[in-house]
Amino acid sequence: MEPAAAVFLGLGANEGDREGNLRRALKALAATPGIEVDGASALVETEPLGGSAPQAMFLNGVARLRTSLSAPALLAVCKALERAAGRVLPAPRMAPRPLDLDILLYGDERIDTRELTVPHVALWERSFWRQGLAELGLDVDSVTAWERPIVLEEPLRLAAQCARWVEGGCVVGLVPTMGALHEGHATLIRRARRECDRVVVTIFVNPLQFGEGEDFDSYPRTLDSDLAVLRQEGVDAVFAPPPAAMYPEGFCSRVAVGREAEGLEGATRPGHFEGVATVVARLFALARPHRAYFGQKDAQQVAVLRRMNADLGFGIELVECAIDREADGLARSSRNVHLSAEDRRAASVLYRALRAGRAAYEGGERVAEQIVSAARRVLDTEPRCAVDYLELRLEPTLAPLVGAELGDGPRAGRLVVAAWFGPEGRRTRLIDNMSVSPPAGPS
Ligand code: AMP
Repeated sequence: MEPAAAVFLGLGANEGDREGNLRRALKALAATPGIEVDGASALVETEPLGGSAPQAMFLNGVARLRTSLSAPALLAVCKALERAAGRVLPAPRMAPRPLDLDILLYGDERIDTRELTVPHVALWERSFWRQGLAELGLDVDSVTAWERPIVLEEPLRLAAQCARWVEGGCVVGLVPTMGALHEGHATLIRRARRECDRVVVTIFVNPLQFGEGEDFDSYPRTLDSDLAVLRQEGVDAVFAPPPAAMYPEGFCSRVAVGREAEGLEGATRPGHFEGVATVVARLFALARPHRAYFGQKDAQQVAVLRRMNADLGFGIELVECAIDREADGLARSSRNVHLSAEDRRAASVLYRALRAGRAAYEGGERVAEQIVSAARRVLDTEPRCAVDYLELRLEPTLAPLVGAELGDGPRAGRLVVAAWFGPEGRRTRLIDNMSVSPPAGPS
């Protein structure tokens, strides 16, 4: 055997004969062709990390190996030993286990694939590994930590990073935002984390989607606190380009979506959806994610992007996430920070109005005008609210209703509203919507 890489393995167990399982695993490793075990730390007892149900204490240690096996081949040996010890794989995260073998370090290689992240992402934070490695002569602080999230500003770096992850077998999820992150964004990010191996959030206040006289200059920009949120949420990369990187000198292509961009936001904000479709098409083309996450809060935006994704053949799965609301029902929005205390209180009228429309529907009303009137009556009780539009549209395209009746079955509808709050010159425009379809959804 030609021993090559110096490898450190983390060993853990919290089920069955913990110490016996760890000792047997070390013996089996030593007996595997291409592996030589040349050191083992003391075993220490540690509290279980996370997990939903209470579980037994862990016994943990670290072993040093020399191996001629590649990292994936070594991983396969580790998985086989875990199975042989009685572990059922794939196992839920943080579940109890008779044996857990983690590749902590593989020489000085850096591996970032679906199967393996080496050095192990949690290397720096788990004191039992830190202690075991120190016993074996390795100072964890001498190993360069992963940058998470990776902060990218250059479009081509975004493309290269995502391509590397895809090549490593990762399912990549993209969450486009304009920053000023709040819980609503966090619900998208968490869903993406559950469903993807790597999550990329983009933060870009896109000048193309703001019209003249709109709030491009005053739109909240809070990059530092946004980065703290992304770190907390375990996001892998953030793409926060300066406008000149997104739209370099000479950039003049536009993506114009037809029917779905007409009316509603498209009527009040001419050019808005062209700006949205253009920036999202550019992000899709750069990142080429498997999935992209958007909020139902911007229902027409979702309809426009679905159309664009289908028409241009990106083949990306668009995932629509339910609206996240404050305790009084106001949909969370980066723009809510502009509301005065009185307007903030008044703004919950949007939710109450949508609820009234839905209640009419649930009470058996199918005449569109009557459903809209039920919502309108609630909006009319709030003098601080200046309605831009209130309409009942058809799902999923938000096409206008042809005929006044919203029957059961395929003619599912969505009540959509936009309104201004605040004095002339400092007005904040809010949008919201709610399904009025059987069965009534959570949003
Ligand atoms: P924005 O930063 O406003 O462009 O929003 C970025 C993404 O987050 C969009 O897909 C929005 O629809 C979504 N989003 C914003 N607010 C909410 C919310 N309250 N609930 C769910 N999704 C939201």
